[in-house]
Amino acid sequence: MNPKDRVKEITKLLEQYNYEYYVLDNPSVPDGEYDRLMNELIAIEKAHPELISPLSPTQRVGGKVISSFAKIKHKRMMLSLGNAFDEKDLRDFDQRIRDIIRVNEVEYMCEMKIDGLAMSLDFIDGHLNYAATRGDGNEGEDVTNNVLTIKSIPTLVKEDRDFEVRGEVYMSKKVLDELNKKREDNNEPLLANARNAAAGSIRQLDSSIAASRKLEAFWYYLVNADELGFKKHSDALDYIESIGFRTNKERRICKGIDAVIEYIKEYTEKRPSLAYDIDGIVIKVNDITKYDVLGYTAKTPRWAIAYKFPPEEVVTKLEDIIFTVGRTGKITPNAVIKPTKVAGSTVQRATLHNEDFIKDKDLRIGDYIVLRKAGDVIPEVVRALPERRGGMEREFVMIENCPVCGSPLVKKDAMHFCVSPTCPAKRIEGMIHFASKDAMDITGMGDRVVEQFFNEGFIHDIPSIYKLREHREEIMNIEGWKDKSIDNLLDAIDKSKAKSLERLLFGLGIKEVGEKMAKILAKRFLELDAFKEVSEEEYQAIPDVGPVCAHSLYEYFHSEDNLIMIEELRALGLNFTYLGYVKVDENSPFFGKTVVLTGTLTKYGRKEATELLENMGAKVAGSVSKKTDVVIFGAEAGSKLDKARELNVRTMDEEEFISLLSKEE
Ligand code: NAD
Repeated sequence: MNPKDRVKEITKLLEQYNYEYYVLDNPSVPDGEYDRLMNELIAIEKAHPELISPLSPTQRVGGKVISSFAKIKHKRMMLSLGNAFDEKDLRDFDQRIRDIIRVNEVEYMCEMKIDGLAMSLDFIDGHLNYAATRGDGNEGEDVTNNVLTIKSIPTLVKEDRDFEVRGEVYMSKKVLDELNKKREDNNEPLLANARNAAAGSIRQLDSSIAASRKLEAFWYYLVNADELGFKKHSDALDYIESIGFRTNKERRICKGIDAVIEYIKEYTEKRPSLAYDIDGIVIKVNDITKYDVLGYTAKTPRWAIAYKFPPEEVVTKLEDIIFTVGRTGKITPNAVIKPTKVAGSTVQRATLHNEDFIKDKDLRIGDYIVLRKAGDVIPEVVRALPERRGGMEREFVMIENCPVCGSPLVKKDAMHFCVSPTCPAKRIEGMIHFASKDAMDITGMGDRVVEQFFNEGFIHDIPSIYKLREHREEIMNIEGWKDKSIDNLLDAIDKSKAKSLERLLFGLGIKEVGEKMAKILAKRFLELDAFKEVSEEEYQAIPDVGPVCAHSLYEYFHSEDNLIMIEELRALGLNFTYLGYVKVDENSPFFGKTVVLTGTLTKYGRKEATELLENMGAKVAGSVSKKTDVVIFGAEAGSKLDKARELNVRTMDEEEFISLLSKEE
């Protein structure tokens, strides 16, 4: 597309989004998408300055003034801020400033970029004159009545000069959550974010609604600080705080851009724990006397910049839906996404869970979708944007056969399963799981190797992994495999044979048996062979084992195929015993007893002693009560020992404990 048409196209979209965001307080796309389009427009305009129109979204601040409120002309323009999206943008900003004001190190003030609504408060002789929104930067809306519902705002201050402060009106995360919960209960549309919730509340004609919204405000700028004799922005902030304005305490003076970058890192981590939403960090030159020489663009000051956190929501395209088969045969539909950066990492796939998930969201192949990733969380498809459909989108149809082996799928609740025992996908996934770190921990046997060996026909099920040595020569012929790498792998496979029962149990991939459950079961039954004799009821009698798990275990150990495989594994020399255990002697003096350890034990560490006791069937507790059977004490034992004596609980010193242990052996 030629640049002129693209400028037109983007302008049209940005105008629509501006209207939704600033006038309706109800955006249809995430901020990241808006910023992306805006950046594209800035880049085109930079390359083709002849295309810049004074009405371009790059040249205008914010929204329109709606007629329901009286208009107020700002004494000084209310500007927006330039954006920085990464360290390079920040360093460029710093370099530009140093070039102009000719210093080696700039003193900056870093502040939270509160995700709210910019507000100007005008004071005459210490009395509040009006409160106005930013509007288009020149003219705002008189929202004094609504702003007065924010109780922390002073209306009369101990300062009889005229001044204007600016800040951000916002809604705390807690209030927004509560409000959205209520709206959900009433089937009303949810508020997209804290900023639009605050703006929507302030721009209500009925002040009682604004009052009910529990808004708050932070004040971050004394507009005529220069006239009032301030030389530093930080001093002006301290001053407005001293005369009764609520300021944000997280602010910090940072000397040099490195300190700014550190501050940003710190707050990227602290962000989730703040009571309000921030969408970035604002960085301002602290020396007010330099503002004029640094100057302004049409819509931003050159002495400040807003660092924006990587977006947690982006708009991208759903290019396809593909299916994967898990080791239990579960079929998962996955979104194939146009590679997109979200919250700092590139995403190409996202799980769509099951058929119902896709149908509920009415996702169609070819749709524009909103993708979310908050922090480290796995990417999630939030919704489709049906208004962006062009007519070529395809409706989703659930498959009826396994995408790998072709056998008919079986539906269970919302999920589909491939039940064919010979399905290669299930086998591959099963072997990958078996070799994985938390199971048999076979170093070098990851997804790619398992797949490769399966495709070459070297392995096809768990026992075949232990016969891989037969294919040593053939493997050597595959590119990338050398003597050493193959020997390392074969060694790792051999070593895994000796692993303790809980790893084997987990590795077998029995439905409902996770790592923790495998440990509980291994400790309880000690030998793999014991499982063949256990009934469903017996499984269920174990705390933590529910009926579904009990059923799955029973089925697994009564399936002919599984029993044959277990015999194969035995013949291949795998260990079937739980090794982390000393057999409990029911006659041990600690069997079934509740024991408390206190003071410093010299022969054993606390952890070791606990393990020894547990292995003898004791329960080790943290505090002494009437239920305690024995208190074992070491040097410098204190209150626990006193309490034991008080309650007449049996006590023993370390020496006695050790002597009882040696009798055990
Ligand atoms: P901005 O939000 O990028 O930054 C400027 C604003 O930051 C100021 O006006 C002020 O209100 C606020 N701010 C918060 N804390 C501050 C502090 N400590 N010091 C100074 N200012 C502080 O710019 P903007 O012009 O308000 O809004 C543009 C942004 O809004 C876009 O980048 C986009 O992310 C979002 N937007 C989204 C849509 C959409 O459809 N999703 C549409 C329009 C705009």
